Amino acid sequence: MKKITVAKFGGSSLADSNQFIKVKNIIENDNSRTIIVPSAPGKSKNEKHKITDLLLMCYQLASHNLNINEVYQFVEDRFKSIRDDLDINFDIEKELEKIKVNIISNPNSDYTASRGEYLNALLLASFLGFEFIDSSKLIFFNNDRTVNYEYTNNAIRKEDIKNKKCVIPGFYGRDFDGKTITFPRSGSDVSASVIANGVCADLYENWTDVNGFLAADPSIVNTKLIKKITYTELRELSYMGAEVLYEDAVFPVVKNKIPINIRNTNDPENDGTMIISDDDNLSTTPSITGVAGKKGFSVFNISKTKRSEDLTFIRKLVSVFETNDVHIEQMPSSIDSVSVVVPFNEISSKQSKIIEEINIYCSPDSITIYHNMSLIAVVGRGMINVKGSSAKIFHALSKENINVRMISQGSSEMNIIIGVVEKDFENSIKTICKEFNLTEDA
Ligand code: ASP
Repeated sequence: MKKITVAKFGGSSLADSNQFIKVKNIIENDNSRTIIVPSAPGKSKNEKHKITDLLLMCYQLASHNLNINEVYQFVEDRFKSIRDDLDINFDIEKELEKIKVNIISNPNSDYTASRGEYLNALLLASFLGFEFIDSSKLIFFNNDRTVNYEYTNNAIRKEDIKNKKCVIPGFYGRDFDGKTITFPRSGSDVSASVIANGVCADLYENWTDVNGFLAADPSIVNTKLIKKITYTELRELSYMGAEVLYEDAVFPVVKNKIPINIRNTNDPENDGTMIISDDDNLSTTPSITGVAGKKGFSVFNISKTKRSEDLTFIRKLVSVFETNDVHIEQMPSSIDSVSVVVPFNEISSKQSKIIEEINIYCSPDSITIYHNMSLIAVVGRGMINVKGSSAKIFHALSKENINVRMISQGSSEMNIIIGVVEKDFENSIKTICKEFNLTEDA
């Protein structure tokens, strides 16, 4: 059976005509790359603006009955220059004019934002000699803006894109009334994942402007590229702040275990990072895959003698945070006390109200609060098999005189969350990376 790769190219990969040439070479280098999903042109050395941002500006102007000409001109110039530089035989003016009329006559943010992907896909299809297939024929959204997989997968099957060489714009689809609906910003990653799932692709390639996931934030420590990471590890790291792939992009491909390969359009020889299914072979994996973290947490320490015997205590405590719209990040507990770790920005204006309510509902012996906490997630599927990983982490931190204020291990045994004060945040990440040979110069 022929191999099918869905290749998604991000905004920086298609920012100008030079990037278009790189993309064409990449596609022609591997004949399994038959389904191409582009973003709208993004920023580059020469281009200061993302097309989507400019379009959304046009929407704002039009919805206030203001003139969009000046801003829309940038959009027109950008697409025309790509077309002209590459000698693409395509009447982009006609499309641009039609879209302009629609934006002015009936301003709609989803429709307007989606036109960057639409126009880019038209140009790319023409440049590659591939068929253009509009995503509004393929991706169906429910009223709550979730993807309707039944209709979407049927439409993908009916269009037979498995057997075509085609370009499908990222970022949008339609609802059941035919209206354009977009994913959240950066959502072309999700579009490509939905399409990869719909055709049961062998591989989903996500081409961007970095080589893949680094083991930690490069602004803190010079770390190695992660060659393989599982879906769950990726979730854990993204949740704690690591960015490359849009967070929700893994969900559509998980069930069919389609691997996602992050690749660099500007360095196509690099194999990038492979995101694989959780039950892939674990035997050769290092114990720690990556380290990520966030600052800006506050900790409520609530003590009550014999609190563990009061079956209603935790429920009441959690409901205080729930009714105040505060997310609980971690909740380590002991026999007579519970700590609740929450984002500071969610409690800053409600602190005394929350304390008052805890006092009323939970009758604790004492409540103390401290701020400026950071959380660090040390993530690795290999930890399950390797003894002593946590001992190694804590020994290394103590050698550096770093006081660990909180420890929690995820139920997947794949992550250890450590709380340290913010001033120790960067040094903790560096220390852990060094201890596990994740630094580039190790
Ligand atoms: N063009 C859209 C954005 O800038 C979607 C995407 O690039 O994935 O957010």
